[in-house]
Amino acid sequence: MTEQVSQRAIEDAWRNVVTTARRTAAEGLVVGTSGNVSARVGPLILVTPSAVPYDRLTAQDTTVVDIEGKRVLGDLEPTSELPLHLEIYRHTDALAVVHTHAVHATAVSTLVPELPPVHYMTAALGGPVRVAPYALYGTEALASHMLRALEGRTACLLQNHGTVAHGRSLDQAYDRTAQLEWMCRLWLTAASVPGRTPSLLSESQLAEAAERLSGYGRPR
Ligand code: 13P
Ligand code: ZN
Repeated sequence: MTEQVSQRAIEDAWRNVVTTARRTAAEGLVVGTSGNVSARVGPLILVTPSAVPYDRLTAQDTTVVDIEGKRVLGDLEPTSELPLHLEIYRHTDALAVVHTHAVHATAVSTLVPELPPVHYMTAALGGPVRVAPYALYGTEALASHMLRALEGRTACLLQNHGTVAHGRSLDQAYDRTAQLEWMCRLWLTAASVPGRTPSLLSESQLAEAAERLSGYGRPR
């Protein structure tokens, strides 16, 4: 199957996967070998291996599976969250997935079933971010709870666990993760002021923001 994709495309994608995984650690979204990153190249899915520190990953560690999760390249064990990554590629047009244990996002996942829409960037993730009910890490049950929470969204929280975001590129999936973590920090900060409750955006305010965001960065 690797014949259908050029060696060069696999090398480039692997370099991107490793860079993004290292970024999650460098920017404090994970500690140690927590979290995982993947990217899709045609029929192939490149994933970070399980339990290997990201700064040790080299070109020789390229880990590739097919959409069924069958290993097609590499000797290392693919991430334990493979079911979660595969469910996203099977059901969305995602080309990249980032999973982290970002601290504010994980804190929020223990408090509410949905992140209250305190900021217009909620619209950039498809609407109020849901929390997928808890299930043991690495299980099909967790993947299926996550898929439900992702409906119409590009990110969700995993209860007592962390974040998942997908995108059309690793940069986009990473950026959505960082925006989600920032919004969780914002809500926790506002909600922790004694005697006060944060104001929330209405559905129509979010719809209006979504409309404007669709032209963000483009000349009017
Ligand atoms: P892996 O090291 O197997 O990717 O697991 C990390 C993790 O975050 C599990 O939820
Ligand atoms: Zn995890």
